[in-house]
Amino acid sequence: MSSDLQLSLFDNSQNSSFITDSIPTNVKIPIPPGTYQNIEQIGEHCNRCHRCELGNTRTHAVIGRGNPQAKILIVGEAPGQNEDETGLPFVGRSGQLLDKILESVGLNTETDVFIANVIKCRPPNNRPPTVKEIEACKPYLLEQIRILDPKIILLTGATALKGLLSDKRPISKIRGQWIEWENRLCMPIFHPSYLLRNPSREPESPKWFMWQDMQAIKAKFDELKEQL
Ligand code: URA
Repeated sequence: MSSDLQLSLFDNSQNSSFITDSIPTNVKIPIPPGTYQNIEQIGEHCNRCHRCELGNTRTHAVIGRGNPQAKILIVGEAPGQNEDETGLPFVGRSGQLLDKILESVGLNTETDVFIANVIKCRPPNNRPPTVKEIEACKPYLLEQIRILDPKIILLTGATALKGLLSDKRPISKIRGQWIEWENRLCMPIFHPSYLLRNPSREPESPKWFMWQDMQAIKAKFDELKEQL
């Protein structure tokens, strides 16, 4: 398909109905803000997407779980095997830990947060996503953020931080800091799988830092709730 033809698929002036059967496969073709009206449309599109090679090997694209009206969006890295099979993010061991971490500060995983990933399809053997894959998938994440309109975005691990904010600093250096982006508050935090590999709860251990960060997040969440 020519670039012009691909681009024209998103020309709303010609046809305002949602296009489900043709997706630009050239990552240079933008997916403009406002393309989707809801998260289900993004899901439909991603399940047909071949903007990168992960489209050849996925079972399900993984779009998100939780409450689309929630004020907190949690962004992970990429689906693993369990997520690819179920179509839901963070359902394996690191997901169970994430749910426990949220519960520990009184955040309900079904009502208080929405959980998604930087990339929607599983990389083979759970390798980290490539820069090209992140780039190809980024419009979907940006559209999710536009539609969900979260006030707080938690970026779990370096891929989420780099994928959304293009910030290459190590998580260990900037975790726990609020970063303003597009009128939202983002906080980089450790990825739950890193915490699984570092189980110590000693002061200044990753789990200990996570506990400090979660309390700051809950305090901000309560503050924002009061304001509305
Ligand atoms: N499962 C996900 O959905 N994302 C991650 O980053 C890790 C596990």
